[in-house]
Amino acid sequence: MRERLVVVGGDAAGMSAATQVRRRRPDLDVVALEKGSWTSYSACGIPYLVAGDVDSPEQLVARSPEQFRAEHRIDVRLRQEAVALDLDARTVEVRDHEHDRTYRLDFDQLMIGTGAHPVRPDLPGIGRPSVYGVQTLDDGAALLDRARRARCDDVVVVGGGYIGLEMAEAFHRRGARVTIVEGADRVMSRTVDADIAAHIHEAIRGLGIELRLGERVESFEDGWVHTSSGPLRADVAVLGLGVAPNGELAGAAGIALGPHGAVHVDRRQRTSAEGVYAAGDCADTWHRVARRPIHIALGTVANKTGRVAGINLAGGYATFPGVVGTAITKICSTELGRTGLTETEAAEAGYDAVVARIEVTTRAGYFPGTQPMIVKLLAEKGTGLVLGAQIVGGDGAAKRIDTVAAALTAGFDVTALVDLDLAYAPPFSSVWDPIQVAARQALGRI
Ligand SMILES: Cc1cc2nc3c(=O)[nH]c(=O)nc-3n(C[C@H](O)[C@H](O)[C@H](O)COP(=O)(O)OP(=O)(O)OC[C@H]3O[C@@H](n4cnc5c(N)ncnc54)[C@H](O)[C@@H]3O)c2cc1C
Repeated sequence: MRERLVVVGGDAAGMSAATQVRRRRPDLDVVALEKGSWTSYSACGIPYLVAGDVDSPEQLVARSPEQFRAEHRIDVRLRQEAVALDLDARTVEVRDHEHDRTYRLDFDQLMIGTGAHPVRPDLPGIGRPSVYGVQTLDDGAALLDRARRARCDDVVVVGGGYIGLEMAEAFHRRGARVTIVEGADRVMSRTVDADIAAHIHEAIRGLGIELRLGERVESFEDGWVHTSSGPLRADVAVLGLGVAPNGELAGAAGIALGPHGAVHVDRRQRTSAEGVYAAGDCADTWHRVARRPIHIALGTVANKTGRVAGINLAGGYATFPGVVGTAITKICSTELGRTGLTETEAAEAGYDAVVARIEVTTRAGYFPGTQPMIVKLLAEKGTGLVLGAQIVGGDGAAKRIDTVAAALTAGFDVTALVDLDLAYAPPFSSVWDPIQVAARQALGRI
């Protein structure tokens, strides 16, 4: 019998690994199990599907199972769920939801790319059909179907994580009355500092979305969400409380999990079990600035770690050095970018940080269409080491965060950031790039 790789999870991490393996090992038998109905899809596109910018779930699919079979000879099996792993016998127990049966599949090597799931606190009524989590394309398709099929005038988004905010905007654009209920005093409290979040609050409220901060959801019933302040009409409730890794399958087989319940991996995406790799949202990774393991659920990381796992699975040598914590989103017309550490995270990591905060414009001040933007830059006191940045502003603001992400990766101090030869012309920025204006302010404070 031919040597076999079994991939569990048919999206970004799993299929990146599978295609890398196929490229390097044409001889291998590659089987990919996916419990849902789609492979290689863009979950990131779900808010735009619900908003109506994208016509159908199919448009979010990069490669279908048929394409994987024909072009890569990867045996993709939909609606097949891996329910248990036997690492001694080297078998996967598979639940075939298509034919309502269970079978065992032998493997020589295993790739775990099971992703994550929306956090669902144990609240009365949370299992009701009107309460939706959003993670997979099946979730997105189900939500879209519900929005099209029945009354969807009032939507409550539970939690102000970035997925919740993107979904809130999507339903607002569909014409629903949307309320966001967030227990903390600000949205995205794990992502940005309070002063930056305040601009997101303005953007949300400016659009006509009701934002309730410091209010907790207590229970759900059909047509209503009950909060600490009383009942709210809700044809649909969407969970936006963040995601947790799907580490249970690996954990139950005795594979080591990290501090966040994600599969623990080394720099080559190897798990604690021989011949078993993991990548993407189900695995932990290394934060290069905080210098600790973290769980970060992003498509960027899933694709990169899946590729590294695939190269190693095929007998090559590749490493993933970790992340610096870069993320970007757009809420209404306000863009937000962040990288490295926030003020809170810097303090937690033991850094004494100085903070520079500047208010500038996205293009030359006189240029038509220029928009306000704020750059907040953190550097270590004494050494001047760049620690992180947050950017909020209009069109063209947020993607500038990549300059700071590169500086963090290279281990720059603020002087090196000031000295960078960055591009300038009036349609793009002021003559001093906004990042460098902030770096100069930080330099003065160090
Ligand atoms: C609404 C939304 C917007 C997002 N926007 C962005 C963005 O703008 N930028 C960004 O970088 N990231 C974004 N993300 C995150 C990004 O989509 C994820 O990080 C990425 O999809 C993770 O890929 P993955 O392959 O690790 O996991 P997933 O995409 O979750 O795929 C895992 C797959 O495994 C399957 N599976 C799970 N368990 C089993 C099992 N036991 N057997 C068989 N199959 C199984 C699941 O059905 C799923 O299809 C967004 C996510 C969402 C939900």
